[in-house]
Amino acid sequence: MHWEKLTHEEIEQRIFSALRENKNYDSEAILGVPGTYLDTEEFHHDAPFLKNAPFLSTLVANPNHIGCHTLNKDKSEDIFRGTQRLEIELIDLIATEIFKAAPDTVDGYVAPGGTEANIQAMWIYRNFYMTEFNAQPQEIAVIFSEDSHYSMPKGANLLNIQSSKINVNKTTRSMDLRDLEVKVGQLKNAGVNYFIVVANMATTMFGSVDDVDAISAFFESRELPYKLHVDGAFGGFIYPFTAAQNNKLNFSHPSVSSITLDAHKMLQAPFGTGIFLARKGLMPFAGTKDAQYVQGLDYTICGSRSGANVIAVWMILMTYGSEGWNEKLNNLIALTDRLAAKLDELEIRYYRNKTMNIVAIDARDISDEIANKYRLVANTYNGKPEWWKIVVMPHVKEEVLWQFLEEVTEDRKIHFNHE
Ligand SMILES: *Cc1c(COP(=O)(O)O)cnc(C)c1O
Repeated sequence: MHWEKLTHEEIEQRIFSALRENKNYDSEAILGVPGTYLDTEEFHHDAPFLKNAPFLSTLVANPNHIGCHTLNKDKSEDIFRGTQRLEIELIDLIATEIFKAAPDTVDGYVAPGGTEANIQAMWIYRNFYMTEFNAQPQEIAVIFSEDSHYSMPKGANLLNIQSSKINVNKTTRSMDLRDLEVKVGQLKNAGVNYFIVVANMATTMFGSVDDVDAISAFFESRELPYKLHVDGAFGGFIYPFTAAQNNKLNFSHPSVSSITLDAHKMLQAPFGTGIFLARKGLMPFAGTKDAQYVQGLDYTICGSRSGANVIAVWMILMTYGSEGWNEKLNNLIALTDRLAAKLDELEIRYYRNKTMNIVAIDARDISDEIANKYRLVANTYNGKPEWWKIVVMPHVKEEVLWQFLEEVTEDRKIHFNHE
């Protein structure tokens, strides 16, 4: 896994040259395409602060990245080809360097978020089964663990397909294979013949990771048709780095067909930067042939989307380079290790995957008042929570963690004295 860091000047130069490659509404005759650069009354295109600000300049130029540009390179809207080429480069970098794909074997795009990327995967597989196997929607089911994100049931609902939630093993919090056996049996009895399986690369609440070998062996040994999608919305920009060779949730695994990441989580990019990756050959199942007025057609759920978002993700990755990014993650993991060690010392129960920066504290061991005061996130706001989570990102200051633990310790002393 390697990519070079660029200097600010190099980044500026690449982006301004991409913007120059896009067609210019001011100097060229453009009549048919909507001129969607930001309104000039409100946003002055010659404002002095835009001069050394490639992201803001892209935001003002507002290129539309509608469609999927890795699919038919250079067939999509040529008006914005300069910045669209940077999107192709970005998708290629993430697919090959972070997710071990061979060059030119993966398509993808920057989606509004992880929700769309997950639903895009389900949409593709539903259409795949309907086209290739003549399946009816009710014969298709999405399978995911109870710790999975709510975009899975949301997608199943939108796509009118079945869904089933699998219990997790309480120690590892990955999909429990005995429950998988039970639920798949029930689905088969109900007439389901085709499966879409979602494996988590770090769940939102626990940072837990599913076992792709165990899941694929389950379906292979029973000769059940399945497609496997990886939800790395939270973990995609951390787990492949921290798990390194132990990461099996990538394109080197033959069972993995598609992956979701969110740059607006760990990467701290602007909202609207989910990332969808799929092996080549799959995107066309989401092709809308009616999108005739879009050059290169459309293959995404969202349609029009912001080129500035693409630029932001590309800039962050280039600013760090792979080494700088690794270093930042190592610091976050080291701080999470220190937090976990203190919790051990205090005999406070918690779940943590050692490759991740999430610690879910057993709600029996801390008071709701302190958890709320420090804005820990509960697994549910509908009744008494069982877990309170801490996410160790750059906003989490070490002093504040220790202050929190001191309060927890004091509170436990009082609590134990009363008992
Ligand atoms: C945040 C998240 C999502 C959904 O992402 P949005 O960007 O909010 O749409 C999906 N899966 C996981 C694991 C997440 O953490």
